[in-house]
Amino acid sequence: MAGKGRRFVERTWRLRMVGLALGFFCVASVFLQQQRGAVLWSLLVFHGFIWPHVARRAAHACVVPYRGERFNLMIDAAMGGFWVVAMRFNLLPCVLILVMLSMDNIAAGGLRLFLRGVAAHLLGLAIGWLTLGFVVEPETRMATIVACLPFLIVYPIALGWSTYRISRKLAEQTRTLEGLSRTDGLTGLLNRRQWEILLADEFERCRATRYASSLLLFDLDHFKVVNDTRGHQAGDAVLCAFAMLLREHFRVSDCIGRYGGEEFGIVLPGATLAEARSVAERFVATVREKNKEAGGQCPCTVSVGVAQCDESMMDHAAWLKLADASLYRAKMTGRDRVVTA
Ligand code: GH3
Ligand code: MG
Ligand code: MG
Repeated sequence: MAGKGRRFVERTWRLRMVGLALGFFCVASVFLQQQRGAVLWSLLVFHGFIWPHVARRAAHACVVPYRGERFNLMIDAAMGGFWVVAMRFNLLPCVLILVMLSMDNIAAGGLRLFLRGVAAHLLGLAIGWLTLGFVVEPETRMATIVACLPFLIVYPIALGWSTYRISRKLAEQTRTLEGLSRTDGLTGLLNRRQWEILLADEFERCRATRYASSLLLFDLDHFKVVNDTRGHQAGDAVLCAFAMLLREHFRVSDCIGRYGGEEFGIVLPGATLAEARSVAERFVATVREKNKEAGGQCPCTVSVGVAQCDESMMDHAAWLKLADASLYRAKMTGRDRVVTA
């Protein structure tokens, strides 16, 4: 929680600078008309041009800047109520200021902050009433209408722009998070959960359309030896290199996933058992060649189990089980080979 909201403080600071500077001219035009005294003018100059910087510093000085900034928004709201009384309820600037402040509060904290803002308006109103008296002169002159126009035009655009930027950033972050939740952190391939979802989808598609589809399960041979002799980090590098080989060898449309520690899975949509077998055999040979390279990045051979989707299978788990049984037989019969179900 500590330190939360620094960006919120910065964003509010920028908007507050714009909003209060423009609001200054609305109130100032009424003050000119009503010939108000030096104290009110000083307060107005302070609120319009100095307060945004004070508020920013105060919020950053808080343990939780977010809370500090929400408090600042309430001071703004109370000041708004005060200016309403000080302007003797001059209709257009009063409504404009209260609406803009409410818009800020809704944007920052929804209904709750809006209602708190209303309470703060009333508090400011009461303070204004007690200190300045209660005079009502609601008529707005042309000069004040003109002075209000920049605020009326510029501030909603600035707030809209700021909101748009936040929503874009949020969409980007959501995309990044979705990507991270689908991929395996080490190899960048699909993680097991996501890969199984795609496998289940492919299974349903196969059942519905009855076209061929094959599944390959890979398991590195004697991978534990790599970890034991070269260390875990070297083992990780081998897994990454193997993932890269898979990517190079198989089509992008084939969904490649890390099924377990040194186990990987690929679905080949549209491939018959024979086609899948041939492509797997070429891959096993490639890995074998890499394996022979001195100091090569992939010092393991690989065993592959292949299974084609068929009508007798109850679900995708049955398909997976069949491929796993083939993989087991590949291991049992000497490794570094492809076995089909
Ligand atoms: P086999 O030929 O029978 O498959 O032998 P193996 O040594 O490959 O099989 P085993 O399942 O005994 O060993 C797998 C090893 O993979 C054990 C585990 O420590 C290692 N492993 C699993 N995940 C990771 C990982 O993310 N990084 C590293 N470096 N090693 C891992
Ligand atoms: Mg294994
Ligand atoms: Mg293994």
